Amino acid sequence: MSGRESVRAFFAVELSSAARAQAAAAIELLRSELPDPVRWVPEENLHLTLKFLGELDPDRIPKLVHLAAAKLVREHPFEAEIGGLGAFPSARAARVVWLGVTHGAGPLARLARKLDASAGRLGLERERRPYRAHLTIGRLPTPERIPFERVEAPGGARFPVDEVVLFESRPSSAGSRYRPLARLPLGRADALELAPLD
Ligand code: ATP
Ligand code: MG
Repeated sequence: MSGRESVRAFFAVELSSAARAQAAAAIELLRSELPDPVRWVPEENLHLTLKFLGELDPDRIPKLVHLAAAKLVREHPFEAEIGGLGAFPSARAARVVWLGVTHGAGPLARLARKLDASAGRLGLERERRPYRAHLTIGRLPTPERIPFERVEAPGGARFPVDEVVLFESRPSSAGSRYRPLARLPLGRADALELAPLD
């Protein structure tokens, strides 16, 4: 095993390269319109989070993957689409700037519920808030008003969602870096991939 005491991990959906490129183009447009303190997410880090797991003992990962994969085998691939713009907790005091999900939000929420339940079976913390599918594109160190009226909400291409990825998140001087630890297919028992921890 890895010998490490804990791994910071989360389940997410990756974007297709076309959807990723569109989101990156939207970020480029917003960069010039929105306030300076926004820390924009680098293109390679863009993802749709389904379930944040926090720090967990690496020895628990195989069991977690097994539980989650068993659930996801019963699900089906679907399509999602990114579009629209918003902020958490509000546009008046934004900490997170996001692109919305204009198609596939229901199935994404369903996956999020399944993964939350799998994590709960291992004793990990359950999500208390209702799941809201979104693509985080920027973060603000302190709450700021975002002048959304100045910008046009971008639309996006549809892309297939046919797997869930378990990512490890590692801090680096350039911000968090993510590494896929396992790929959990939707509706296919034969395609599970599990990477060793290093
Ligand atoms: P950084 O923390 O360096 O700004 P990051 O937030 O992308 O980068 P992580 O904090 O490791 O990196 O988070 C990984 C993923 O989990 C991101 O999608 C993040 O939005 C999400 N996430 C982080 N903390 C939570 C939380 N407490 N609840 C729900 N999702 C979270
Ligand atoms: Mg974070």
